[in-house]
Amino acid sequence: MAVLVTGGAGYIGSHMVLALLDAGQDEVVVIDDLSTGFAWALPPEVTLVQGDMGDQALVAETIRRHKVDAIAHFAAKIVVPDSVTDPLGYYLNNTVKSRALIETAVREGVRHVIFSSTAAVYGEPAVVPVPEDLPTNPINPYGRSKLMTEWMLADAARAHGLATVVLRYFNVAGADPRGRSGQSTPNATHLIKVATQAALGTRSHMEVFGTDYPTPDGSCLRDYIQVSDLADAHLVALNHLRGGGESLTLNCGYGQGYSVLEVIQVVKEVSGRDFEVRLSPRRPGDPSRIVAEAERIRGLGWTPRHDDLRAIVSQALAWEGSLATRNQR
Ligand code: UDP
Repeated sequence: MAVLVTGGAGYIGSHMVLALLDAGQDEVVVIDDLSTGFAWALPPEVTLVQGDMGDQALVAETIRRHKVDAIAHFAAKIVVPDSVTDPLGYYLNNTVKSRALIETAVREGVRHVIFSSTAAVYGEPAVVPVPEDLPTNPINPYGRSKLMTEWMLADAARAHGLATVVLRYFNVAGADPRGRSGQSTPNATHLIKVATQAALGTRSHMEVFGTDYPTPDGSCLRDYIQVSDLADAHLVALNHLRGGGESLTLNCGYGQGYSVLEVIQVVKEVSGRDFEVRLSPRRPGDPSRIVAEAERIRGLGWTPRHDDLRAIVSQALAWEGSLATRNQR
């Protein structure tokens, strides 16, 4: 049976594809519109269907042709500030198209769905580390666009016999330790990516968005999870579902928070490069601190292998360097 990975040519999706193949999954099919992903991010044995995961005829055809038994749904827009300026675009991509995908899964008899959700569903959590059963209260359109999909999945699971694992990602960073994939989006906005670009000189400086938060050094606290560890969490979820397990919601993080200023310091130390850091006003939509309580997923057998911020930064630097070489070719 094949696994269909939506958004499999993107950053996290491409690491999922590698994890599936490394684990011996014989058929992996990717559907991706290549809006932010890259066909070259995929190994040759993977089938790429270039198109929209909300295109029901295309997805149904793909499911039938490849005998798909599980869908890992990554395809989404993920930039919080963009969701503030373009909420309807985010609701279309992340919510409306997900509805179409879920309906296609139900119609075609695909019983297992793994969904890429986000810690943004918690908003500004009252408790840190955040347990999964904390009431959700997203503070930006991105978080709401994902939470609505969580709700649709839960309702569809009850009504139509799906089994789903919702993975709430904290801050994903780093790259495949073997250098096969990484964060390739040219205009990426995520902290570690931006800081590695500043270290390598592909951008002249970087900004810290907000230094007046109620945190020890005034900058925001986040829980940075390495991307291959996150992909492994999906394998745990897939095995759980294929083994007949019930629907679950799982935080994906390490349970350790780092401030923006701490991350920048680590990037400077690991790269051995100094770069200009401007202290700027807060960015709309950012919660001050968000750290996972991740016991539930560990209880399912997930054992992270890369829980080390310095290693994550070093992978990100290596990938950024290889991208610069690729772009020069
Ligand atoms: N951030 C920053 N400068 C940047 C990019 C991000 O200060 O160039 C901050 C951002 O305001 C947030 C944290 O880093 O407090 C993590 O942001 P990111 O965009 O990486 O992930 P998010 O938490 O929004 O999903």
